[in-house]
Amino acid sequence: MNQAQICTNCVMDTTDRKVKFDEKGVCDHCNTFYREILPNWHTDERGRQELDRLVAAIQREGAGRDFDCIIGMSGGIDSSYLTYVAKEKLGLRPLVFHVDAGWNSQEAVNNIEKLVDGLGLDLYTEVIDWEEMRDLQLAFFKSGVPHIDTPQDHAFFAMMYKFAEKYKVKYILTGANYSTECIRNPIEWMYYQSDSIQLKDIHRRFGTRPLVKFPLTTILRHKVYLRYLKGIQVVTPLNYVPYHKAESMALLAERFGWQAYPQKHFESRFTKFYEGYWLYKKFGYDTRKVQYSSLILTGQMTREEAIERLARPTYEGATIRQEFEYVATKLGITVEELQGYMDAPNKSYRDYRSQEAIYRVGARVMRFFGLTLGGKR
Ligand SMILES: [Zn+2]
Repeated sequence: MNQAQICTNCVMDTTDRKVKFDEKGVCDHCNTFYREILPNWHTDERGRQELDRLVAAIQREGAGRDFDCIIGMSGGIDSSYLTYVAKEKLGLRPLVFHVDAGWNSQEAVNNIEKLVDGLGLDLYTEVIDWEEMRDLQLAFFKSGVPHIDTPQDHAFFAMMYKFAEKYKVKYILTGANYSTECIRNPIEWMYYQSDSIQLKDIHRRFGTRPLVKFPLTTILRHKVYLRYLKGIQVVTPLNYVPYHKAESMALLAERFGWQAYPQKHFESRFTKFYEGYWLYKKFGYDTRKVQYSSLILTGQMTREEAIERLARPTYEGATIRQEFEYVATKLGITVEELQGYMDAPNKSYRDYRSQEAIYRVGARVMRFFGLTLGGKR
């Protein structure tokens, strides 16, 4: 095991236990980016042509219908900018799909509303049953694993798939992109949120009420059954166009009154608490390293700036006390109980049942066929 070591090219370091450095001190995340992603990622004319073909297919499929695709919208920059691009630049007719898991920040609510109104789109909001959500989130806290954001994330995707299947929508557009996410959180930090076996096992051990309304999906269902038997595709248009995060935020702010929020994923108050505080405090995992490293690789941040920013705390001491209380109260527990979960022994996804093997095989197959570049590891 290496002593504390930081990549000479980005800011990933040995807090990612699987990180490997080459003889120049460059990490495997960087090398994967230069070897696999960069040569196959085109945001120029070539990307534009691919995108044109995709848009034509989406429009063909949606002809005569109220909308030709759905966009999962969180209120964050990626999905917001995607919505703008889809409508204004690509001429698509998306239905904006939002899943309310109970943790929307004021910024998220504002951004969804402003963008939907400004672009003249329809918004469909699905609200997750709060009692089941709360119980499942508590189960994840009790389990001691790092990836306690799973209930939210799983619900978002499962709901969207469910909707697409029910209304026979063939295209789901997501804001996933290489520009700001070319490095992904290590599996150790954030295990696959779509793994329903893991979710169910944690629920079975720590949940207190049955999951009746909570939407579930499985990797085989959405990657194989829905994709190849039902023809439902998830596409990522932001990978075909230039996407600069800061410029996009400025554009949306000026045109629509879109509001910036302090850090990626902070559009959800739960995720803000989780990524900004819990994950770092309990496990030492700082997701800013992943986010800044992605921006460094895509030329949107210098390594010096990233190092300087990382030296600042992930959260403010004064506000975290309020945030801690907010989360506890919202979950219906005391601050002491929440603190108890923080102090309990750390666990990993390996302590519970999972479909990790299927994910690993699936990832290898997808990479072999060039269906995915880079990815989690
Ligand atoms: Zn690196």
